[in-house]
Amino acid sequence: MKKVLIIEDEQSIAELERDYLEVNGFSSDIAMTGDEGLAKALSKSYDLILLDLMLPGLDGFELCQKIRKTVDIPILMVTARKEDIDKIRGFDRGADDYIVKPFNPNELVARVKAHIARYNRLVNRENTQNDLQIKDIYIERNSRRVLVNEEEKIFTAKEFDLLVFLATNPNRVFSKDHLFERIWGIDSMGDLTTVTVHIRKIREKIEVDPSNPEYLETIWGVGYRFKK
Ligand code: CA
Repeated sequence: MKKVLIIEDEQSIAELERDYLEVNGFSSDIAMTGDEGLAKALSKSYDLILLDLMLPGLDGFELCQKIRKTVDIPILMVTARKEDIDKIRGFDRGADDYIVKPFNPNELVARVKAHIARYNRLVNRENTQNDLQIKDIYIERNSRRVLVNEEEKIFTAKEFDLLVFLATNPNRVFSKDHLFERIWGIDSMGDLTTVTVHIRKIREKIEVDPSNPEYLETIWGVGYRFKK
């Protein structure tokens, strides 16, 4: 369920927003001061923020700037004053949209939906751009998942890093030294057999026949190569 953070010091308005959002299938939290709103926003458990401009303590602009430093979800500013619209328009620090009180609650909900959908499209596009597909192997880099023939295989952190490194540099031969240095770092514990062990484990997960690998080849006397 998508969750909206409502930062609004007027209880009746906050409740109106909450009620309409809930009727439309959203969940929500209300923060009645700027400080509370900031703390909640930074918990990163929301899909969108409705931000009242005039708040006691931190005002909406200051709050928006602070939130934007770490959170990139849509922020809709809500203002009671028409003259604030120009300020919001000229405000280049991260509000995505604004709405003027008194607003039509259905319009507010429609805007919330549109912004969440747009944001999710962007995030999905970024995610898929990072994904790798090599024949039957699908690697989701952001979520660190590996699917082989659409079946998820569980990788340890280092196995995943090694696979991604090799798969993003296909058809190149890398020595064990190079791979060890690259994935584990020069100063880390372990030795070159660590690489061998990890290669074997990766093969067990991605190869139909690990002893006769189709993807992860051994180039005798040199190292390994990911064949594309
Ligand atoms: Ca207010």
